[in-house]
Amino acid sequence: MDPAATDRFRRVIDARITVTRAQLEAAARRIGELTAARDGTAEDDEHDPEGSTLSQDRALEVELREGARRSLADLQEALNRLAAGTYDVCEHCGGPIALARLEARPEARLCIECAARRVRH
Ligand SMILES: [Zn+2]
Repeated sequence: MDPAATDRFRRVIDARITVTRAQLEAAARRIGELTAARDGTAEDDEHDPEGSTLSQDRALEVELREGARRSLADLQEALNRLAAGTYDVCEHCGGPIALARLEARPEARLCIECAARRVRH
């Protein structure tokens, strides 16, 4: 990959990391608020409709937070591969990952063929 493309992908990934970090922080803040709200309502979630909704909302935010954490790890890993010069090399077959694919999914580790094969199996 030429240095201009490397720079371009680094900027794209950096921007995604910034957005994902903000999502992570927002989810963590919401979880804190919902935990406080839930703890402030009736002790028995099961029989309190409001407490139960708060628990569901909190579970959803926890899922969002975990998803953001995984994305962040994938993006960091992509930056490492970019620095190591292995960014556009498929982790599975060692073949090239098409630039169009990396543009669509900057954290992709597999070429389109290997990714498709993995989904099918
Ligand atoms: Zn491959």
